[in-house]
Amino acid sequence: MSFEKELEKGQFCIPECISCKKLIWPPSEFCNLCNRELTLNKSEFEGKIIEFSRQDENYFCIVEFNETVRLIAKMETCPKKNQTVKISKCGISQGSYYFHII
Ligand SMILES: [Zn+2]
Repeated sequence: MSFEKELEKGQFCIPECISCKKLIWPPSEFCNLCNRELTLNKSEFEGKIIEFSRQDENYFCIVEFNETVRLIAKMETCPKKNQTVKISKCGISQGSYYFHII
């Protein structure tokens, strides 16, 4: 999937329907509303911290983008609920997606 190709290069993007413009998450091949093809939206999305927990020296946050996309991201500083964040780094490591936020 091209979403993964972009992620491998460190580019975060969200699949978006070419027809109804809905953001599709988790990424898939076609729109789950109108079944049309998807394009990749590479905007610099701003997310909101929904929840977080601490594990060793790191914070892991549930971040929500555009009220549809939710993912788990790592943060080095102490997060606050509802804080606005951006993806600073992302990629695929040993078959798993990772996201870092600031
Ligand atoms: Zn659609």
